[in-house]
Amino acid sequence: MTRTTIAIASGKGGTGKTFISTNLFNSLQNSGLNMALVDCDAEAPNDREFLREGVLQSTQAVTQKIPVIDKSKCTYCGKCDEYCNFNAIFFLEEPQTIEVLEELCHGCGACSVACEYGAITEKDDLLGKINRYKFPNGNELIEGKMEVGVHVSIQIIKESIKAAENFDLVLLDSPPGTGCPFIQTVYKADYVVLVTEPTPFGLSDLKQSVEILREMDIPCGVIINRADLGTDEALNYLKQENIPLLMSVPFDREIAVAYSKGEMITNLSSEWREKFSQLYRCIKEDFQKVKTK
Ligand code: SF4
Ligand code: SF4
Repeated sequence: MTRTTIAIASGKGGTGKTFISTNLFNSLQNSGLNMALVDCDAEAPNDREFLREGVLQSTQAVTQKIPVIDKSKCTYCGKCDEYCNFNAIFFLEEPQTIEVLEELCHGCGACSVACEYGAITEKDDLLGKINRYKFPNGNELIEGKMEVGVHVSIQIIKESIKAAENFDLVLLDSPPGTGCPFIQTVYKADYVVLVTEPTPFGLSDLKQSVEILREMDIPCGVIINRADLGTDEALNYLKQENIPLLMSVPFDREIAVAYSKGEMITNLSSEWREKFSQLYRCIKEDFQKVKTK
């Protein structure tokens, strides 16, 4: 079976992305799929709060190489500063000053390549970790988690997704927003589920996400959460742009109470379990349609 990767994303936080990701995973747990859910929201991963029955199997450190400059060998030529695209080297010709600004460094290694005087070596810097939680059926929750004080989550996201490469179905719970962490999460996805709310802010973020995904040539469908609490603008936009509405989730007290207690609605209600199974069927159907176009 070829691997299918589905990302669940939203243009902003608080739209219910975790609710959708964890319940979709949970509803498919007994379907015989060899599946992993990757929590790519490395800044604040919280899928584990809902999927507590998985047992921790391993914790892997994620590091990056940070340059270390030996000032006794440095000729202050400034070449490393020229090569650095992230302004992570503070360099002055007069008075001769050179420092690595570690919080800006992306560990790309360009400065080491640039230095012809052997003045740059590298050290490992801990960025975060990847926790793997295994369920009795072999499925996994893979959680990327940044260290406190680390500002760049890209490497952790990349390695968390790589950790899921042996599964047939990979669900990616994307970080909120449309910045680099979102792009890093979705760029190899076969399909993206965008979760939105029927508000002007929700619509504006949705439009931005759709534009980026179209640029990247990745098909998407939409879930409107708390669908009965806003306007029809999001629906009209989907019709106009020919984007499938995969599911509407009304505001429901039972869902809100379950979520606040860290419980899964797909464990509490067979009706919701069926709705999430139906969601997966809709995603597959739309994905197949796009593939055969
Ligand atoms: S490793 Fe890359 S980002 Fe870091 S200082 Fe060197 S050139 Fe800049
Ligand atoms: S390239 Fe090497 S020698 Fe030149 S300023 Fe950077 S560290 Fe110093």
